Amino acid sequence: MHVFLLFLGASLGNLSAGRAGILGLAMGHLGIALPIAIRYSAVRKQFGPQATSTGFVRRTKDGVPAPETMVEFPVIEYQLQQWRLFPYLAATYVLKSFSDTMFAEMIKFLGIQASPEAGYDLPIAGQEIHAITCSAKPLFTWTARDAIQECREGNFVSFIWNRYLCTICNQMITIFMIHKIVFIACGGHGYLKASGLGRLRNDNDANCTYEGENNVLLQQTSNWLLKIWKELKADPNSYPDVTPLQTLTFRDGLRKFEQRGKPITKAEINVNNPTFLLDTYKWLICYLLNETEAKLKHQMEFRKQLDENNPALTKYVAKNSSQAFYARTLSLAFIEHYILQQFYFRFFEGRDEAWKNASAESKAMFAKLFTLYGLWCLEKHMMYLYQGGYASGPVFANSVHDAILELCEGLKMDAVPLVDAIAPTDFVLNSVLGCADGEVYKRMETALSETPGAFQRAEWWTDISERVKSKL
Ligand SMILES: Cc1cc2nc3c(=O)[nH]c(=O)nc-3n(C[C@H](O)[C@H](O)[C@H](O)COP(=O)(O)OP(=O)(O)OC[C@H]3O[C@@H](n4cnc5c(N)ncnc54)[C@H](O)[C@@H]3O)c2cc1C
Repeated sequence: MHVFLLFLGASLGNLSAGRAGILGLAMGHLGIALPIAIRYSAVRKQFGPQATSTGFVRRTKDGVPAPETMVEFPVIEYQLQQWRLFPYLAATYVLKSFSDTMFAEMIKFLGIQASPEAGYDLPIAGQEIHAITCSAKPLFTWTARDAIQECREGNFVSFIWNRYLCTICNQMITIFMIHKIVFIACGGHGYLKASGLGRLRNDNDANCTYEGENNVLLQQTSNWLLKIWKELKADPNSYPDVTPLQTLTFRDGLRKFEQRGKPITKAEINVNNPTFLLDTYKWLICYLLNETEAKLKHQMEFRKQLDENNPALTKYVAKNSSQAFYARTLSLAFIEHYILQQFYFRFFEGRDEAWKNASAESKAMFAKLFTLYGLWCLEKHMMYLYQGGYASGPVFANSVHDAILELCEGLKMDAVPLVDAIAPTDFVLNSVLGCADGEVYKRMETALSETPGAFQRAEWWTDISERVKSKL
């Protein structure tokens, strides 16, 4: 049996290398999409109050505010824009740290496979790596998918369409020129081919499918978690307290809560405290494990009557019928907690030697990014926290929402330096919207004018000019 587990663990770990590589690809996409969207948001101005900072409004003789008293705000000032983009910025930092940690763990695992090390449980490590990569790959690639989409939509404007129609040339040919660099025939700088976001979206899409379709992969993680949960319930010592990759730290979450027997109180809610966040996740994972196990059991009982003594069919259908809202959510909550925990170990517990000498400002910034990403992920599971009785009343939900908005507002001045720190060079970024100098409009004009054929009639001009005759 031990030899079987040794081989199983080792081979599962080996299969994970490709998925671990995809984490890096998703990071590459996040590291390009966020700089484009955030730099652009700092440059692009839209709307604003009709007053100066002193409240004085000079009106023209027609009674409308004079143009010089109209204030326009960069769109990064708007709460909605911050709330849509900054959690992905926080995600980029937290996930990057995790992909580095995971890469180091993979190398360590492969090294120990070649020359075993006392105290390192290779079969368990292989299973842990398999469970981690099967859930981290979906989380990373979906985060990149959603971030790219949000970045693309965040750049929505109809400005270029009107501007080029009105100020450069108002002939039909102008529309065709714009079509040459626009993916879709509507306004919106994010749609520009030259924005680079369409290319990113295409590149990332396949990552959600190859090396295992994301939804199917998540089932590998939940299967493993349910197996472990059953074994731990039968014998709490069936797994060591500290496994090689420390994936099972959640195990006491529910027991501690149930011993108290009531929801957390207002005084206990401390959403900006990293350990509060991690403890809440621990409870959530245990709750989802219990619920998924109960759902599976219920399905088995129900199917038994229908499947007429075919236990294999009963088990198969029961498992498939326990995915949505249960096993799938469980795998995602597990990996979110694990990623946050690894970030916590590295930067808050000082396991990263180099980080010990970091400045107080850097440490405070990482705390903000950690909390924003953690609360933003947790917020998506709010329903389960109430359903399971962890929280009751509005205080918990309000605290999470307020903290997310405060953290977003607090990141406004740091967002551009934060993306500058991770962005590749302008040449690699390859986007007219995201260059480091913020010269968005100059670069758009250059891209437009340098597009081959931009100032020439389309080859098919005569095809329509002969058919569409002016009635004037
Ligand atoms: C760009 C690209 C490159 C690729 N390169 C390679 C390569 O080099 N080598 C290689 O071997 N393969 C490669 N693949 C194939 C890839 O690994 C498979 O496409 C992937 O594993 C999904 O399998 P499938 O296409 O058969 O999807 P299917 O299994 O047919 O899935 C179709 C849909 O059904 C759902 N589904 C399937 N089973 C279940 C289930 N049990 N429960 C719930 N939902 C389910 C899936 O979630 C999915 O939405 C590549 C794919 C792409 C897109």
